[in-house]
Amino acid sequence: MNARIATLAQDQPYAQALAVSGDRILAVGSNEEIEKYLTKDTEVLSLDGKLVIPGFIDGHAHFTGIGRSLQQLDLTGADTWEDIVRLAGEAAAETNPGEWILGRGWHQAKWEKPPDPAVEGLPLHTELSKVTPDNPVFFAHASGHSCLANAKAMELAGVTKSTPNPEGGEIVRDKNGAPIGAFRETAQGLVRSSLNQALASRTPEQVEADLRKTIELAAEECLSKGITSLHDAGASFSLVDLFKKMADEGSLKIRLNVMLSESNSKLEERVADYRLIGYGGNKLTVRSIKRLIDGALGSHGAWFLEPYSDLPSTRGLQTCSNDVLEKTAQIAIDNDLQVSVHAIGDRANREVLDIYQKALDGNNNARWRIEHAQHLAESDIPRFSELGIMAAMQGIHCTSDGPWVIDKLGEERAVEGAYVWRKLLDNGTVIGNGTDAPVENVDPLKCYFATVTRRMNNGEQFYPEQAMTRQEALESYTIKNAYLAFEETEKGSLEPGKLADITVLSKDILTVPEEELLKTEVLYTIIGGEILYEKD
Ligand SMILES: [Zn+2]
Repeated sequence: MNARIATLAQDQPYAQALAVSGDRILAVGSNEEIEKYLTKDTEVLSLDGKLVIPGFIDGHAHFTGIGRSLQQLDLTGADTWEDIVRLAGEAAAETNPGEWILGRGWHQAKWEKPPDPAVEGLPLHTELSKVTPDNPVFFAHASGHSCLANAKAMELAGVTKSTPNPEGGEIVRDKNGAPIGAFRETAQGLVRSSLNQALASRTPEQVEADLRKTIELAAEECLSKGITSLHDAGASFSLVDLFKKMADEGSLKIRLNVMLSESNSKLEERVADYRLIGYGGNKLTVRSIKRLIDGALGSHGAWFLEPYSDLPSTRGLQTCSNDVLEKTAQIAIDNDLQVSVHAIGDRANREVLDIYQKALDGNNNARWRIEHAQHLAESDIPRFSELGIMAAMQGIHCTSDGPWVIDKLGEERAVEGAYVWRKLLDNGTVIGNGTDAPVENVDPLKCYFATVTRRMNNGEQFYPEQAMTRQEALESYTIKNAYLAFEETEKGSLEPGKLADITVLSKDILTVPEEELLKTEVLYTIIGGEILYEKD
């Protein structure tokens, strides 16, 4: 009651109140109209004019990856080596003896002062080992090209003064030749392999218990950010088995739409048993196959028609052959599934459009997806709507990549086809939105801000003429993402009969000034009529 409800429904875009019964919306209207539904048992939320929207749907993220990133210490914000030692000590106090403590993202160049003592600017493990005597520690550098380990981890890995450097790597040593706990490049494998051994030696029960914990953490994180559904961009059969089990028990908290990531031969054997629509009270849907045809832009892996501007020797990489993709397309058709191919570069996008066009043979209602659709040749832009192909994009990639896109591609390609939401929308393309978390923060409000402003961290805007309107951006995160998954009759707008998946925000993101957007907080996250998150 007493809310500002942006329903995203065609016939009644705004309302004041809504009623929920069971897991569905019963009615939407004015306070007076909804009061009729009150009984003595009704739980009432009076929202003081706050904005109510359909629950956010993240259209492309890696669900267990979100949980796993939360199970590691985030060292990106550490100002000194002493900070990191303190964080490790705190983690050790909460970790059973023998269990690994993992962390990522430290960078000695970001510390306020160099560690002392140090070797080549890198800290010695002594202080770290003192606070973590019973737990092996592995802390990955922000670049991924080096790591820090403590005494326990080195003991398990059998690393001593006499261990030789492996080829392509270095065990950093003090002047007496003793390992200081820092490992460069391939030498990281010495420590990593004992971590992998520990993981491999778990019983099946432990593996499941660990994965359940990861899933619970991921769900909690999503709920705290107002997310009610998520499209999981790549899961194995065995992960789907666990999702299914959790959906049966009622312990899968948010709704998942899963893209299967298995080889063509495994799919041919088993996929018929894995197609699920609205399983477990609409908690789990599996109706899509995930593939990747190229890599990422930052590492020159995205596949382009012309060479990179900053590395003219390469046009990027094709990571999956057309033959394999054509076979995947056939399996999808045979099993009534969608295909969702990751394509970043303009060549990658063109190849996927060609493969889809051939396989779909005039059927423009299959809603096959291109994940990212990040860089497009001008002539391919209209093909999305012509062929009925969905563009599953990520607003936040535009603003985090923006500062270096022109270096990589040159201005012409950046203007023509980089994150061109406006051009795609004007052509009638359905665009979904998401974060690719944990690549980016899963927070929809950060992504929404990027989508409507295209404002980068440096304050500048990346071709703002391609921004979405506030309304379009909200649609991309709700009803359009529902459409991408054939779920637009179940969710994505607040209408009688639909699932009661609702998010309440502290500010009206459709109207507040730009600088207020990032100050918006999630007040409630409601799934199927149940309040699963409430800001305290
Ligand atoms: Zn992804």
